[in-house]
Amino acid sequence: LTVLGIESSCDDTAAAVVTGDRRVLSSVVAGQAALHADFGGVVPEIAARAHAERLDHCVEAALAQAGVTLRDLDAIAVTAGPGLIGGVMAGVMLAKGLAAGTGLPLVGVNHLAGHALTPRLTDGIGFPYLMLLVSGGHCQFLLVRGPEDFTRLGGTIDDAPGEAFDKVAKLLGLPQPGGPAVEAEAARGDPAAVALPRPLLDRPGCDLSFSGLKTAVLRLRDQAVAADGGLRQGMRADICAGFQQAVAEVLAEKTRRALALAAVPVLAVAGGVAANRAIRAALEQVAEAEGVRFVAPPLALCTDNAAMIAWAGIERFRLGHRDGMDLAARPRWPLDERAAPMLGAGK
Ligand code: ATP
Ligand code: FE
Repeated sequence: LTVLGIESSCDDTAAAVVTGDRRVLSSVVAGQAALHADFGGVVPEIAARAHAERLDHCVEAALAQAGVTLRDLDAIAVTAGPGLIGGVMAGVMLAKGLAAGTGLPLVGVNHLAGHALTPRLTDGIGFPYLMLLVSGGHCQFLLVRGPEDFTRLGGTIDDAPGEAFDKVAKLLGLPQPGGPAVEAEAARGDPAAVALPRPLLDRPGCDLSFSGLKTAVLRLRDQAVAADGGLRQGMRADICAGFQQAVAEVLAEKTRRALALAAVPVLAVAGGVAANRAIRAALEQVAEAEGVRFVAPPLALCTDNAAMIAWAGIERFRLGHRDGMDLAARPRWPLDERAAPMLGAGK
C-alpha cells in the first residue's frame, strides 16, 4: 500500500509518500513563517494563497524524493479539516483533481487524527493508548481506541501551551517561535525565584488553562520593570524558568489524572511543545511512575507534516473508508465525533 498525503490546514504546506508497512518514503514541508512574520500571527488570506502556489511543487517533490509516480500510488489522502478554511480547500481541491485524473481513491483525513495516529507510524504501537497533543494550536488528552475511535478526556479551556510560550516570549522581548527561546532562557534561570500560579490544579478532571499564567507573567514583568527601571537579564531568565516549570507541572499532573482515567499501557505525546526538554522529562516521569510506556515521535513528525496525513489515510483506507468528489473542507471537525465526516459546515 503506497499513499500520497497532502496537508495545508495551517501555515505549513506539506506532501509525503508513506507505505502500509510504515515506511516514510518522503516528507516535504514548506513552512510559511517568513510570510507571516511581520503580522505577529498567521494571516489566513496569505496562508491560503501560499498553499495554492506551493502545493503542486510539494507534491511533485514528495513523489520524486520517494522515487514513485502517481501510477505507483494506491490512494490519495488529504487533510479535510479542521483548520483555516482557505488552506484546507486548496489541499482538498488538489487532491480531488489528482484523484479524478488518475482514478485513485480519495480519503479525507482529520488533521488531529493525523497527529494522534503518528505514534503508530513511528513506533508501531497498538490500541488503546493515551495521546497528549500539545502544540501551538491545541492541547488535549485523547483516548485512542481505533483509527476512528477517539475520546476526548480533557483539554485547554483557553490558550494552547505553545501559544502561551509564544506570548510569554513576546512579553519578555524574546524572538519567535517562543518555545525554544523561552526554553533556552529558562536554562539560566531559577524557577523558585518567582511565584506563578498552577491553573486548574485544584479542580478535578483533565482540563487545563494557560491564559492566566500568561497574565501572571505580564504582571511579574511589569513589577520587575517598575522596580529596576527595566527587565534585568537575570529576572527574565527566572521568569522563563518559573513559567516553564509551571507549564510542566500542570501538564504532568493532568496527564497523571488522564492516565488514571484511561487505564491504558501507553502514553504518547505529539505537537511542538513536546520538544521542550523539561516538559518531556516531566511527562516521562509520570509515565514511569504510572508504569506505562512513553512514546514521543521524532520532532519532524510531531509538528505539522503530511506523512501523518498519509498514514491516517492508510488507516482509514484499511477500514474501507473512501470519499467522493463531494468531500468537504471543514473549518471545524471535532475528533470525537463518531460518524463519518458531515458534509457542509462543521458544528
Ligand atoms: P497546530 O499544529 O496544533 O495547529 P502549531 O502548528 O502552531 O499548531 P506545532 O508546529 O506543533 O504547532 O508547534 C509549534 C509550537 O510549539 C509553537 O507554539 C512553539 O513555540 C512551540 N514549541 C516549539 N519548541 C518548543 C520548546 N522547546 N518548548 C516549548 N514550546 C515549544
Ligand atoms: Fe497540527
